[in-house]
Amino acid sequence: MHGAPLVLYNSLTRSPETFVPIDPANVRVYSCGPTVYHYAHIGNLRAYVFTDTLSRVLTWKGAPLTHVINITDVGHLTSDADAGDDKMEARAKETGQDIWAIAAYYTEAFKRDLGNLNVRPPSNFPLATAHVDEMIAWGREIEAGHCYRLPDGLYFDTASVPDYGTLARSRDDAGTGEARIAAVAGKRNPQDFAIWRTSAPHEHRQMEWDSPWGRGAPGWHLECSVMSRRYLGERFDIHTGGIDHREIHHPNEIAQNQAMSGTCDTGANFWLHNNFVVERAGKMSKSGGGATHLQSLVDAGFHPLSYRLMCLQAHYRSELEFSWENLAAAQTRLKRLVQTVAALRARPPVASAGSAAAYREQLDAAVSDDLNTPRALPVLDALLADKQVSPAERLTALAEFDAVLGLDLTDLTREALRVRPAAATIEAAAVGECLAERREARAAKDFARSDAIRDELAAAGVEVMDGDPLGWDWRIG
Ligand code: AMP
Ligand code: ZN
Repeated sequence: MHGAPLVLYNSLTRSPETFVPIDPANVRVYSCGPTVYHYAHIGNLRAYVFTDTLSRVLTWKGAPLTHVINITDVGHLTSDADAGDDKMEARAKETGQDIWAIAAYYTEAFKRDLGNLNVRPPSNFPLATAHVDEMIAWGREIEAGHCYRLPDGLYFDTASVPDYGTLARSRDDAGTGEARIAAVAGKRNPQDFAIWRTSAPHEHRQMEWDSPWGRGAPGWHLECSVMSRRYLGERFDIHTGGIDHREIHHPNEIAQNQAMSGTCDTGANFWLHNNFVVERAGKMSKSGGGATHLQSLVDAGFHPLSYRLMCLQAHYRSELEFSWENLAAAQTRLKRLVQTVAALRARPPVASAGSAAAYREQLDAAVSDDLNTPRALPVLDALLADKQVSPAERLTALAEFDAVLGLDLTDLTREALRVRPAAATIEAAAVGECLAERREARAAKDFARSDAIRDELAAAGVEVMDGDPLGWDWRIG
């Protein structure tokens, strides 16, 4: 890897550490993926803007990368505390739909959201349901030394590994993470968790497999141990997830990995966690009815990359408060950037008096400091505004910012940013015609006609912005 040393905040040690790849020829990253029973909400999507930033920075700094994002299409219960129904089964019951069709539909929707956010596809999106045999094999392997049977399944005994919960700091932090679990009668320790969930005698799940512990379905945590090892090896570089995973899911993965390897190794050298998107009312959740989806933003007239920019304006370890005002501010900032780039492109070629190299270094310094994107954005502003550097050279340097930040400023146009809200009653072409007619009326000093057109447009929800400093002559508001 080149440039500044990459420092990442490691949740294992709760401190920033210099990242040194295990194998510089293949840096391996695993990101816990979505549970596909519903659309991802914008909080979930922040988790993948974060992993995309990580993967872009690693790639930009010259590290060949293998990145895996799994798809959880079985196993995740409505409570992380091993209680409740499987989220997928619950959704199938509620909608009367086939569970496999639900999984396929929301998996595609998730991939589309990532594409719209300019998140680059990982090397692989493995499905949990395609790895159930391997999960059963893993359970058999660790059963004797680490598990016990209860009527409803096979449970992991968290006292069987030496340092359970180190990642969550659960010993000195009692009470967090679903109040440190229990819920299932007969558990040896409150934090013990299901490796296999045996179906009740007359229960019929849509997704069920035969196993040595009866017909049933795997516990949620097992899939990530199985798929990360399968695709990245027993020891890999970085494991990511939302901050909630630091409390339960990741400590459980670590316990399974330790049971399997017979060592104290957690599996990954670095464990990275993004903080939540919150609304004033509290944390956003997929099951809580108020979740906002990417499509809701588009329907309201926002470009998906405005949301990406909003994410980049906050450090991934800080909470990000979502509000429509903040999103609108991000969209205005994005429009200004697009405007500035268009103006640069229109300038005649000149020789450069200065160099863009310093900006590249500042970008590297910012993102190498635990992916500090809020610090990288003003560097971009400064580069674009530097008159010492020729427009052509500024545009060349811009491509590097695009590679790292994924804002697509090299190709994004003003027209693309003018998203038509779902509720709008007028087509863009019709607005164009009206505006042309209005320009003619004004040129002929027919101000009555010009004002009338303006009023007609206003009635259709189109705001005409005369003398708009952004040159943004209209918008559907
Ligand atoms: P899920 O689909 O619930 O399995 O979650 C997918 C990813 O989104 C996980 O890494 C979660 O930790 C993360 N996540 C869930 N809620 C939020 C939120 N409000 N803000 C940011 N990340 C979240
Ligand atoms: Zn996981």
